Amino acid sequence: MPSTLTPILTRSWDDPKAWTLKSYRDAGGYRALDKALAMEPGDVLSAVKDSSLRGRGGAGFPTGLKWSFMAPPDGGPRYLVVNADESEPGTCKDTPLMMANPHVLIEGIIISSYAIGCEHAFVYLRGEVVHVYRRLLRAVEEAREAGLLGTDVGGKGVSVDITVHAGAGAYICGEETALLDSLEGRRGQPRSKPPFPGAAGLYARPTSVNNVESIASIPGIILEGVDWFTGMGTEKSTGFGIFSLSGHVKNPGQFEAPLGITMRELVDLAGGMRDPDKELKFWTPGGSSTPIFTAEHLDVPLDFESVAAAGSMLGTRALQVFDETVCVVRAVDRWTDFYKHESCGKCTPCREGTWWLKQILGRLEQGEGDEEDLDKLLDICDNILGRSFCALGDGATSPITSSIQYFRDEYVAHLTHGGCPFDRAASTLWA
Ligand code: NAD
Ligand code: SF4
Repeated sequence: MPSTLTPILTRSWDDPKAWTLKSYRDAGGYRALDKALAMEPGDVLSAVKDSSLRGRGGAGFPTGLKWSFMAPPDGGPRYLVVNADESEPGTCKDTPLMMANPHVLIEGIIISSYAIGCEHAFVYLRGEVVHVYRRLLRAVEEAREAGLLGTDVGGKGVSVDITVHAGAGAYICGEETALLDSLEGRRGQPRSKPPFPGAAGLYARPTSVNNVESIASIPGIILEGVDWFTGMGTEKSTGFGIFSLSGHVKNPGQFEAPLGITMRELVDLAGGMRDPDKELKFWTPGGSSTPIFTAEHLDVPLDFESVAAAGSMLGTRALQVFDETVCVVRAVDRWTDFYKHESCGKCTPCREGTWWLKQILGRLEQGEGDEEDLDKLLDICDNILGRSFCALGDGATSPITSSIQYFRDEYVAHLTHGGCPFDRAASTLWA
């Protein structure tokens, strides 16, 4: 485990037994639950609201506010659904978190359920990660055996249980309403919003859909207090987060740090560039759905506002690093292939648009076509952006428009060179 600046969620990752209930309890786990159960549910919700915790799944919507938007109790069921369908290219924080420390998520689920009046919570996991599925099932079983789940949580007469559900491996099922359709047994496709899930979600009941890391952050906020949490990060992007570094750094992995840390600092924490003689060429701040950044953005604070002001999005903090040996056109072509494949087909701009983007990019990458194709690409992106039914369509355009903004010459070089001008064998990424 590389050094982290705020070892909170990642504190125990070096311990191979950290995932057991005993280890978690020995390290002080489930004390936050005791504290929460001694509070009124409304006070727990207020604490989360006051912490200004922003959703860690990518969009950054305030968690407490989302909870408070849920329709008022009417005697019927209310649900918490944890979105563990982590699939954004480069994002790898929730999966290791659930493997190393499933009980911090379970404790967070129980506290959150208590706060919003939910008696049955769900964790929707991507289908490919069978090892995580097994681990979560075992941890839920341990919690149930210890009386932490069931009809008398902590001996306080509170009811909460958890169902862990594995999806079938579709990127679109990370979109919250597609996830709910999939959980209900239907084909996962986004629903119209409004109504938002808070008004009509799972089985048309009030539902809060929250990311794994958001819910896992709740025990710390309750136990240590709002001031402790807001003392980290920036004024509007409070607290800490797990940053996933991959690609051309010496020690890729997860780095937990206050929001507002810079990429330059994170690359240093990761041991620097894999080959110190090679320059960093481009990187993604929040996965491939966010506009790429270049070396000129290394000092942008990685908080929601600063990244947006610099022209991208913090997203999932999936920092993919590419050095000068990488052809940006090839990288973008591969990402576009992913979006084309994962487009659910519900709306025309994304279904048809991503297909055309892939055709044109593939041609350009081979050195075929002409410079007008670049404008055609931008025109198609313009017709997808803001006209698609969900964020997948918009996200597919980000790497294309931003790479043309920063590296138009490299696209043109493919045409003048009659193919990719890069020596693929020299690239350590996909040689
Ligand atoms: P969004 O901004 O539409 O919504 C974010 C959350 O806020 C949702 O839960 C939504 O229900 C809630 N919300 C927004 N407005 C609301 C309102 N007026 N009333 C009540 N609730 C409201 O974003 P999104 O489409 O849910 O997510 C997009 C983000 O997902 C992208 O920015 C991307 O970073 C991220 N993403 C993450 C992954 C991953 O693997 N974690 C994969 C793909 C995309
Ligand atoms: Fe489906 Fe793409 Fe439309 Fe989203 S934008 S609904 S993924 S076709």
